[in-house]
Amino acid sequence: MRLSRTFLPLLKETPKEAEIVSHRLMLRAGMIRQQSAGIYSWLPMGMTVLTKIADIVREEQNRAGAQEILMPTIQSADLWRESGRYDAYGPEMLRIVDRHQRDMLYGPTNEEMVTDIFRTHVRSYRALPMNLYHIQWKFRDEVRPRFGVMRGREFLMKDAYSFDVDKEAARHSYQRMFVAYLRTFHRLGLTAIPMRADTGPIGGDLSHEFIILASTGESQVYCHKDMLEKAVPPADLDFMSDLTPIVDDWTSLYAATDEMHDEAAFAAIPADKQVEARGIEVGHIFYFGTKYSAPMGANVAGPDGSEAPVHMGSYGVGVSRLVGAVIEACHDEAGIIWPESIAPWDIALVNLKPGDAATDAMVDRLEALFESLGKTVLVDDTDQRPGAKFAAMDLIGLPWQVIVGPRGAKSGEVEVKRRATGERHTMPEENLIPFLA
Ligand code: ATP
Ligand code: MG
Ligand code: MG
Ligand code: MG
Repeated sequence: MRLSRTFLPLLKETPKEAEIVSHRLMLRAGMIRQQSAGIYSWLPMGMTVLTKIADIVREEQNRAGAQEILMPTIQSADLWRESGRYDAYGPEMLRIVDRHQRDMLYGPTNEEMVTDIFRTHVRSYRALPMNLYHIQWKFRDEVRPRFGVMRGREFLMKDAYSFDVDKEAARHSYQRMFVAYLRTFHRLGLTAIPMRADTGPIGGDLSHEFIILASTGESQVYCHKDMLEKAVPPADLDFMSDLTPIVDDWTSLYAATDEMHDEAAFAAIPADKQVEARGIEVGHIFYFGTKYSAPMGANVAGPDGSEAPVHMGSYGVGVSRLVGAVIEACHDEAGIIWPESIAPWDIALVNLKPGDAATDAMVDRLEALFESLGKTVLVDDTDQRPGAKFAAMDLIGLPWQVIVGPRGAKSGEVEVKRRATGERHTMPEENLIPFLA
């Protein structure tokens, strides 16, 4: 991909409206364009990252045995009247009237709709466990949309819903999502800590928020320092096996959001292990039993033939919020530092002198080489000054910069810079492959 042909509208000035670094960098790097408060268009680089995050979320949901569906954004109010939430939800719900005067709404979440799908088609415990998810835009008319995509009004969420015959089975479904979340956030280059969260009237211990620590986070959180160092379960884990030992291990150390905070338990942690910080909620998993299935009549027949409401849980990931959250975690003064797994391109190939025949030839050769290795490449073929090129490449934060100028083209040497560390190496062209592989 040639930079001169790429729609990457970089901003020189720091936008005044942006209060936090991820919002500033997303605007400066031309990833998004605000259309109204909390509502954004995603420009090519933003869209690429958003898609890569969604793909990793999807892979880990599938690995854990969830099945992807797609439900609409616009829902009928009638379903929400069945659960009693149409009146209870309040002004965060965007309510719409269609031309036939029917009450509709732009979904803030999908428990009612997925329960309706389930009750229409599933009647027996034999179909269980079942977990259905989608990755779809949500609308919540937040009082204070802010921090760019972190608290938008329209935002992309992965929401999964599990169905089980009883609470014990539902606990296993919950654990599968718990482990899937550990893997998902780890693959995104994040340290996300599962923290005990409020279960409201349902009670019990089956609600966790996955939180990444960041000074700009909106939640106050408390945890044991060792939570930041734990190893994540491997990809070949059997998700149908008993996951209790893994989940017990991950929940044995103190970690709670402020609603669940227990001063006494926290004080019992050695002082040098107490972490008190701000955090960003990037995911939330929750068992809520028969809260929707009972009023909506989603019953299944058990092995003995008797019918009972199905036990459910829901599992959200803030896909668009994660774009901002990753940047909050991965940046320096010069710009973004993308984790390799979600970088918009793998390599920035900087041509310091477009039009110089030897330099152009070397750039073309390297581009073809990188592509043959399965790498994606952004070729800076613009005629800006070197300083401006380096600043732009640091801003957009691709993992590697490979820099080619007339002198190197003559001697067969290139300069390679690793964005994360700033390390630079000059090396003969043929040494690049083992270096980047
Ligand atoms: P918050 O406490 O930040 O308002 P929430 O608890 O209301 O979030 P959930 O209903 O648990 O959100 O939704 C699941 C996930 O969706 C959240 O963990 C978060 O990552 C994401 N999310 C929620 N609201 C927004 C928003 N306004 N903008 C972007 N992402 C959001
Ligand atoms: Mg909220
Ligand atoms: Mg919350
Ligand atoms: Mg939540």
